[in-house]
Amino acid sequence: MSELSDLYQELILDHNRSPRNRGKVEAPDGSAQGYNPLCGDQISVSMKMNGDKIESVKFEGSGCAISTASASLMTEALKGKTKAEATELFEKFHKLLTEEGSSIELGPGMGKLAVFSGVCQYPARVKCATLAWHTVKAAIDNEDEPVTTE
Ligand code: ZN
Repeated sequence: MSELSDLYQELILDHNRSPRNRGKVEAPDGSAQGYNPLCGDQISVSMKMNGDKIESVKFEGSGCAISTASASLMTEALKGKTKAEATELFEKFHKLLTEEGSSIELGPGMGKLAVFSGVCQYPARVKCATLAWHTVKAAIDNEDEPVTTE
């Protein structure tokens, strides 16, 4: 677990300890399940639209600190976004985590999500951090198949 100490920044610890938007939205417009077998992270995401905008995203599940904190921060970041904006943010987030040095270009525009740029150095953890995003994308696209990071 020592490699993780670098990643356990305060913001991640805080969102792991007290995740925001935990639970289920009522009468969801989209929902999906996600599983990361590499780590054992499980998540279900439900979302409510208001016109073209995401009104609310909530999540349930169990997983490591990175996956929980990422899901929590994601639900905050997606509130008020259109589906197209959410997809764009997911692509930027994925790039931030997988392309070394991309945080210089992308980090400043990502707000709190930039805290995950350190995950770039731990490829196995990228799946933990992106699980919630893959799952919410499936919820947005209304896919019935459960999402797996494998
Ligand atoms: Zn994990």
